[in-house]
Amino acid sequence: MAILDILHFPDPRLRNRAHPVERMDDRIRHLLDDMLETMYEAPGIGLAATQVNVPLRLVVMDISEDKDQPLRLINPEILDRWGEETSDEGCLSVPGIYEPVTRAQGIRMRALDTEGQPFELEAEGLLAVCIQHEIDHLDGRLFVDYLSNLKRQRIRKRLEKEARQHRAKAPAAAAQAI
Ligand code: ZN
Repeated sequence: MAILDILHFPDPRLRNRAHPVERMDDRIRHLLDDMLETMYEAPGIGLAATQVNVPLRLVVMDISEDKDQPLRLINPEILDRWGEETSDEGCLSVPGIYEPVTRAQGIRMRALDTEGQPFELEAEGLLAVCIQHEIDHLDGRLFVDYLSNLKRQRIRKRLEKEARQHRAKAPAAAAQAI
C-alpha cells in the first residue's frame, strides 16, 4: 500500500468531475486500499479519489471510533434525501478550516462494492454528512462552496499563505476532517 498526495484548495484539479468506474478489477481495489491508508494516516474520516488526483468515482470512509470499519464506495449516487441539518465540516483538502454547512439530514444511496455488486445504504447524522461531502468531491464541489464568497476568499488566502510559508510542516489535520 502507499500514501498518496492529497490536493489542497484552491488547486484547480479539485474541480475535475470524476468518471464512473466501468470495470471492477485489482487496479481499482488496490487504489481503494491506498486511499484508505492515506485517509487513516492524514488522519481523516473520508476521502474521495478526486482529492488524490484520480478522476474516478471512488470514495473511502470510516466514521467508527476504532477505525476498523472501512467503507469502500464505487460509483456512489444519492437516491433520496430528507430533512435538513447544519454541522461543522472540515476537509483534508482544506486543512485546519472548520465551518458550518447545511445538508440533508438523511439520505439513501446506492453504490457498487469491491466485487462490482450494487448495494443500498440509508444514513443519517455524521455518515450522511460524510457521504454528501464525498460525492460533492466527485462532482468537483468543496464544502467551502457553501460559504459566502468573502469567507471562501479569506480561506483561500490563508491556505495559499500557509502553503508558501511552510509547505513541509503544514498544520496537522484534525480527526474529523473529510
Ligand atoms: Zn473533503
